Amino acid sequence: TAITLTGADGKAGDLLRSVIPVNDAITLRMHHSFVALPDNGYVPRLFDPRAGYFTNSYFDYSTPVAEPIQKQFIERHRLKKKDPSAPVSEAVNPIVYYLDNGTPEPIRTALLTGAKWWNQAFEAAGYKNAFQVYILPDSADPMDIRYNMINWVHRDTRGWSYGASVTDPRTGEIIKGNVTLGSLRVRQDYLIAQGLLAPFENGLPADDKMLKMALARLNQLAAHEIGHTLGLLHNFSSSVNDRASVMDYPHPLIRLNSKGDIDLSNAYDNKIGEWDKIAITWGYQDFPEGTNEKQALDKILEEAAKKGLFFISDNDARDPAGLHPQAHLWDNGTDAVAELKEVVKIRTKALQQFGIKNIRPGVAMAQLEDVLVPVYLYHRYQVEAVCKEVGGMFYTYAIRGDNQPVTRPISKEEQLKALNAAADCLDPSFLKIPDDIAKLIPPRPAGIEPTRELFKKRTGLSFDLLAPAETAADLPLSFIFHPERLSRMVQYEAQQQGLGVKEMINVLIGKTWKAPRRSGMEKLIQQQTEQILLTYLLRSVIDEAISFQARAEAQQAVKELSAFISAQEKISKDSSYLAHLALAADRIKSPEKVKGIKQKEMPPGSPIGCDL
Ligand SMILES: [Zn+2]
Repeated sequence: TAITLTGADGKAGDLLRSVIPVNDAITLRMHHSFVALPDNGYVPRLFDPRAGYFTNSYFDYSTPVAEPIQKQFIERHRLKKKDPSAPVSEAVNPIVYYLDNGTPEPIRTALLTGAKWWNQAFEAAGYKNAFQVYILPDSADPMDIRYNMINWVHRDTRGWSYGASVTDPRTGEIIKGNVTLGSLRVRQDYLIAQGLLAPFENGLPADDKMLKMALARLNQLAAHEIGHTLGLLHNFSSSVNDRASVMDYPHPLIRLNSKGDIDLSNAYDNKIGEWDKIAITWGYQDFPEGTNEKQALDKILEEAAKKGLFFISDNDARDPAGLHPQAHLWDNGTDAVAELKEVVKIRTKALQQFGIKNIRPGVAMAQLEDVLVPVYLYHRYQVEAVCKEVGGMFYTYAIRGDNQPVTRPISKEEQLKALNAAADCLDPSFLKIPDDIAKLIPPRPAGIEPTRELFKKRTGLSFDLLAPAETAADLPLSFIFHPERLSRMVQYEAQQQGLGVKEMINVLIGKTWKAPRRSGMEKLIQQQTEQILLTYLLRSVIDEAISFQARAEAQQAVKELSAFISAQEKISKDSSYLAHLALAADRIKSPEKVKGIKQKEMPPGSPIGCDL
């Protein structure tokens, strides 16, 4: 049933106003579906925390007392083999998805390509043509419950895409997969590439590497969101295994080529991942008659674990206090520290060549800042991954009897390596915006207003040379000094020879307060970073969310820093440095005043090409 609602009272709210042509009228078409529940031919698959599926759960009060009252089944489509005993079999009814027929080229082909990757995973499970994708016929309604849909939707700003499903609440059977892809965010990927390549030598580049990278991202995007509607959760630990899942958040994997130029050709993978094949085999295998299904399912996950392929999801990876060394959003590589060094090389090269060639002829010079933001902050996700190794611990979602490693400490040496790599991103030479770039960015002209995508400033109209450094220095410190991380570090130091809070602080003070003095703009950045670090130290002393011993160690470190500051005040002749020291000494006297301090926050970074 389709209902058309027309509002003409002129009372559109902000969200509505941003997407309708005129404020005083809107027509909205609503589609209601009254759907009979599926027949009894579907057999639910029991939930397993290692497999990475959405769960459908309910309480069954008729359950015997000794058995779990909560029933948990995975969400998945109904899929059966014509011949389960054959090595390869067609499905009785394949899973069919339809792409929005309003999707334009070249996006249409990119989405179709990525969507069809899933057939590779079903092939790994012994199916033939069990996953198919077509363009939605003009006569069909995308809201029809019978069609699994991939919708291409225009939005007001860049934002997340979604993979949602209509499921049978009794069994978890997916009745309709419904993917919604935001059309605007692909432009952010294009912008990143534009920032890295400085491509506009004379107008438009002949070989559009930027568009190629953005379309490669759309392959990923289609596969990712469809994955959710096949029942799969995010697997954020797959980027450590050579990009083993499209259900991770992919950061472009970019390297310098043999000529030292930035090479985007391997930015995104071009196939379904190894983990995805395992997950689909586990969730969708139709075993031959006589198989012990529980044993067969366990074997799939145990063999994956032996190859180092496992599943770690959102709770672990999104938490700024997270401790898993391999579960991160938008990261790459097996070793977060080694990858950060690669990322820094790309950032350095891109900043070196940054200039007027980063925008097209005819674009306002002030808009260079829009392109500079993703280049300057290019390291933001990889440095987050590195920081999480500090006070971290490896673990799996092991269950009793599966022989997986359960927990494994991260050695103090590894933690120090990570801490030092993060601290390198506090160096004034790293944080400085090159002078020749800063000179090219005037205040915004009338008609080209500032957006939320730019650096937050303390200098009003003019480009702020220090605020980007403030934001970028705050980033690693905000992770390292997370109250839960500090509280944990004290425990891991005592229990598993981990890195302690005091030693961590000493490393950071060594790299900042006790480092050789810089001059010019680097000196201003150095002193600013020192004050930001002091803010975190003082906050760690007074924050009651932090355990007593962690606070005590922070307090000890502040006392020692105070003594260092007094000694420097006696020997320095530099009036700017002396003023900086006096401010710090004053701040140390009243630590409670740090409560109101907020560093200039990051412009939005996620999502890199729409995902959820
Ligand atoms: Zn997602």
